[in-house]
Amino acid sequence: MSKVKNAYKEIENIIGDDYISDADFMKAAYSRNVDPAFPDRCADMIVRPENTEEVSEIVKIAIKYKIHMVPRGGGADLVGGSVSEGGILIDLTRMNKILEINEDDYYYIVECGVTWGALLSELHPRGLTSGVTGPGSGFAATIGGGLSNSTAGGGSTKYGLVPDVCLGVEVVLPNPQGTIVRTGSAANQYATPFCRYGVAPDFTGLFMGDVGIMGIKTKAFLRLFPDPPFKARRYYMLLKDDYNKVFEFGHKLRKEVGDGLNDLMVFPFILTQLLSAQVVNKPSKRAKLTGPVVSVTLDATDERILDVYLEKVDEIMLKDDASRPFEWQEIDLDMVLSKDWSFTLKEEFNFFQKYISMAPPKSSCTTCHKVAISRLNESVQKGVQFNINYQKEFPPGNPPYPVFASFLMFLPNGNCVIVGGLGGDNTDENREATMNIWHKKIRHQVKYGAAHYWLGESISQSIVEAGAYTPEFMQFFKDMKKTVDPNYLLSPNKFHLYSYDHDYTEHLVED
Ligand SMILES: Cc1cc2nc3c(=O)[nH]c(=O)nc-3n(C[C@H](O)[C@H](O)[C@H](O)COP(=O)(O)OP(=O)(O)OC[C@H]3O[C@@H](n4cnc5c(N)ncnc54)[C@H](O)[C@@H]3O)c2cc1C
Repeated sequence: MSKVKNAYKEIENIIGDDYISDADFMKAAYSRNVDPAFPDRCADMIVRPENTEEVSEIVKIAIKYKIHMVPRGGGADLVGGSVSEGGILIDLTRMNKILEINEDDYYYIVECGVTWGALLSELHPRGLTSGVTGPGSGFAATIGGGLSNSTAGGGSTKYGLVPDVCLGVEVVLPNPQGTIVRTGSAANQYATPFCRYGVAPDFTGLFMGDVGIMGIKTKAFLRLFPDPPFKARRYYMLLKDDYNKVFEFGHKLRKEVGDGLNDLMVFPFILTQLLSAQVVNKPSKRAKLTGPVVSVTLDATDERILDVYLEKVDEIMLKDDASRPFEWQEIDLDMVLSKDWSFTLKEEFNFFQKYISMAPPKSSCTTCHKVAISRLNESVQKGVQFNINYQKEFPPGNPPYPVFASFLMFLPNGNCVIVGGLGGDNTDENREATMNIWHKKIRHQVKYGAAHYWLGESISQSIVEAGAYTPEFMQFFKDMKKTVDPNYLLSPNKFHLYSYDHDYTEHLVED
């Protein structure tokens, strides 16, 4: 029997035949995440463990037969992270229990395959929140995916990235023993997971944003917050398409509204124009569109405090006639008025989904990255210039305007996300050109100092190709990887980490 067949049999004995498959239709169903830029890639088998011990047993078998593994949560990755060419794809979505909600000590414990939708549906009716409410891909993404992709999403302006609200994790290491470790205060076997620091070095960080290369996260210990009951959202349209002004507003709102600022986002001018063209239920009068739309979401523990925040925001945004109050109803009668806004699980779909899926037959190569807010205008301009300079290298069907280059989400401290990407007709003939320009664009961003977040395969490889890491850092990285994964069998393509001895310098690219 081949090693794959042997491994299959042994894993089947552990998790049962209902939860392992090598049937073609299953392999096809798991052959991609939400990333049409990649070809379909089929694992040798898909396994769906029920608990940490089963994950550990699977790992032991995989290592025994030297078969590589890739962990997968909701599969909403856009950058090739949660698929596997050959090997074992470990689907964690059966591990979806909310194990504890500790309202006294403000933490909760979940299995990493739980979705944001299931979690929020449990927390919100109790007046509680996870702070960050999950990625723009929607609520079928998992907590494990959020921790592994350093996800930014709803509430990130106030609470940061998903790892920022993480107190520790339980992880299965990809070593011959399938070692199970816990981090944060849970590393002390006598303690509850109520805090992250103070028991050992911060090993939690080793597994945050690792895109599943350092271990398989099975449980997460996370911060719990009271959900401020008073919320409001307001929109403003800039009178000019001016990103220096966007920076100014962002900076001021951060300084003067502080903790009341739950979310601060900016929708680029071109996006508003395109959305307006797509609308079904149009108003009879055509809206005057002049610049980006700033969306400000506020929350407060008291209605009077919320009123003060609203006043302050109006004062900042309307001063000097740089912007005006805006309603999405000006272009789409199906949208709710800002005075009627309330948070619903559906709300987050209104923009992200339309935005990223504007043209379904296109490949969607995301280039979302973080920059320091003072570098915002410069970075947006550099993105635009890149598209102009290399337009000929883009695959056919790429829009001639930088649609994706300017959607923003402000994060705590001085950084913001520039959501973006490129596209092109999604055909097999275009794939190579698409991949090449995608990697090139990421390298360009890395070289102007960008920090990405979901790194998956394409982005993590492009960071290495750009020569971002010094030889000393790369050696450290490889040594750390070897410590947890001596055979380099967990997600081997990411960061071009194929084996300990592999020479990463052969991937460096001079642009
Ligand atoms: C329309 C759209 C909008 C998006 N918007 C955002 C956004 O606003 N912010 C954002 O951050 N992302 C966004 N994404 C990307 C993605 O959806 C998120 O990063 C999401 O958090 C991924 O979660 P998932 O459960 O689907 O992970 P998956 O796709 O299953 O996995 C993501 C990565 O994590 C690894 N992984 C998953 N679970 C585990 C685990 N338990 N242990 C170890 N490794 C694991 C996988 O190997 C993979 O590399 C968007 C995607 C789409 C399609």
